[in-house]
Amino acid sequence: MVEIRKPIQVAEAVGRVMKNVHKLGTEVLPLEDTYGRVLAEPIIAKHDVPPFDRSPYDGFAIRAEDSMGASGDDRKAFRVIGEIGAGHVADRPIGPGESFRIMTGALIPEHADAVVMLEQTVENDSGFTLRKSFEAGENISRQGEDAKQGETLIEAGTIIHPGTIALLATFGYAQVRVAKRPIAGVLSTGTELLNVTDELESGKIRNSNGPMIRAQLTRMGIEYASYGMMEDNLDACTEIVEKALQETDLLITTGGVSVGDYDYLPMIYERLGAEVLFNKVAMRPGSVTTVAVLGDKLLFGLSGNPSACFTGFELFARPAIYSMMGCTAPYMPRIQAILGDDFKKANPFTRFVRASWSMTNEGILATPAGFNKSSAVSSIARGNCIIVLPSGTRGYEKGMIVDVLLLGTEQGVERWEL
Ligand code: AMP
Ligand code: MG
Repeated sequence: MVEIRKPIQVAEAVGRVMKNVHKLGTEVLPLEDTYGRVLAEPIIAKHDVPPFDRSPYDGFAIRAEDSMGASGDDRKAFRVIGEIGAGHVADRPIGPGESFRIMTGALIPEHADAVVMLEQTVENDSGFTLRKSFEAGENISRQGEDAKQGETLIEAGTIIHPGTIALLATFGYAQVRVAKRPIAGVLSTGTELLNVTDELESGKIRNSNGPMIRAQLTRMGIEYASYGMMEDNLDACTEIVEKALQETDLLITTGGVSVGDYDYLPMIYERLGAEVLFNKVAMRPGSVTTVAVLGDKLLFGLSGNPSACFTGFELFARPAIYSMMGCTAPYMPRIQAILGDDFKKANPFTRFVRASWSMTNEGILATPAGFNKSSAVSSIARGNCIIVLPSGTRGYEKGMIVDVLLLGTEQGVERWEL
């Protein structure tokens, strides 16, 4: 007898997954190894940035008062008494009518309070002349203008990107406390599957989900253990799932979660005593997406259909994995865009359409990436985002404003109202 499954809403499904996330704890790593990790401590300014008043330009450091009244007819002359390169300091303060030639980033000499850009001067034998007056503080990068000592600049729970690395380096964080990163297990099921190196045979297809999921993990900076492909054999699959659960922090399987005769994942969950959080979601593609939990490990049972598999990963596995690492904004960023095509058929399930976004004169346009069945593989390759079309009694027309989930960025948002 075919079991009747009751679909739950996507937001409810995501919520159930997130409630079952177990954090992995923290570790301390050398700065250079922290790219892509999640900060487990806030970045607090250990000193002012910049740490001293400095020159933002190549020019001359002067006393502003000496430039008072300067004009084209009454150029003020300055004597240059030395040069300060970045990293060097002046050997004495400046006096009336004096200046130092100064380079970008160099400390402003004592008693100087303005910097004249090279382009604003006419040089002569003893120095230069000016035709404009300067105010005190003009062209000076003030100590602490970027960050003040003691200020919390970045909160714990933030993913470290190159800019974060720069800030950590600025304050001398040679060692950084970050969240531990999970190792994901990846297993593709299906007797029809061939390896990428195999010739096609009648009734068989190459395994595209395995390599795709591994790349989705790699894109997030997550390591994985690959358990390859398994034929639809209940005992053999149960064994490999058990092994994978011992060796990894979460398991992603593809295929075998539907209600066909050889869809064994539901039986495997039962045999292992895993609690099924849901096995039917009101979404297309991927309504059969199943997530179960055993102990502190999540088992993502993604559909074998490539578009469904891809979408299921991004919707459920992505935020769960980031959350395991303590990331406070684990969800794909969402923007609004103009729908590039008609979707006139009303759908009782929320539709996730592989699409690509581009900038036009009217704004951001999100255009469906072609053949859009859940079995489609070509549109995943063409797409760079996912259009969200909420369920309802009406369809959607080209030109309407719709929500779009962005792919391929470590940036995220704290919550979703899907
Ligand atoms: P299943 O979820 O096992 O019912 O599979 C649904 C569809 O996806 C079937 O047409 C499968 O042949 C196909 N499929 C399953 N696994 C993969 C895979 N790893 N790569 C590509 N297609 C697959
Ligand atoms: Mg199958």
